[in-house]
Amino acid sequence: MRKLVTEKLIIASHNDGKAREINELVSPFGLIAVSAKNLGLSDPDETGSTFAENAKIKAEAAATGAGLPALADDSGLEVAALGGAPGIFSARWAGEPRDFDLAMKKIEEQLLETGADDHSARFVCALCLAWPDGHAELFEGEVRGRLVFPPRGNKGFGYDPIFMPDGYDITFGEMAPDAKHAISHRADAFRKLTKACFE
Ligand code: IMP
Repeated sequence: MRKLVTEKLIIASHNDGKAREINELVSPFGLIAVSAKNLGLSDPDETGSTFAENAKIKAEAAATGAGLPALADDSGLEVAALGGAPGIFSARWAGEPRDFDLAMKKIEEQLLETGADDHSARFVCALCLAWPDGHAELFEGEVRGRLVFPPRGNKGFGYDPIFMPDGYDITFGEMAPDAKHAISHRADAFRKLTKACFE
């Protein structure tokens, strides 16, 4: 495991919300996070077939482009009865411009079509920390739960209103942000990353 020794870290994301969230997570470690977007680096195509591959593509492109270590996140929702869909296509299922009400409806319809009683699902987050010399470290986090319809709550983002984590009777859409951040797939992956590379 390689430790991060530089102070400056590139956040390989063109999503402002995600860059802000990652910045908040790394700043307690004395790291100065700069987003790839602010450096004018282009966003590579996500051509991988797994979350980890896509996180690696984004982190390596930013590390090479900036000449500094870079951190990328790739995440999504996997529904067991749909064979893991939408998975790496979670953002794309919402179309352009993004409409998650539509994406959640699509999941409900496909579950009805399969006739499956199994509504189990998980959120997955892959994090990749890449260095300009080609070295990379990968970490994966998850949170397991089940899907409920109709969507509940207006907190969070994306698929949060239909996702009820195991052990809770409210969805991520109804949960206070701090409570979600304590158990989320992103928090799980971050705990692994910080333990291995920051401490
Ligand atoms: P990415 O930006 O390509 O990694 O796409 C991530 C997509 O997965 C988001 O647009 C959301 O649709 C979904 N997603 C990831 N994490 C969460 C979460 O914590 N809550 C709800 N949806 C999420």
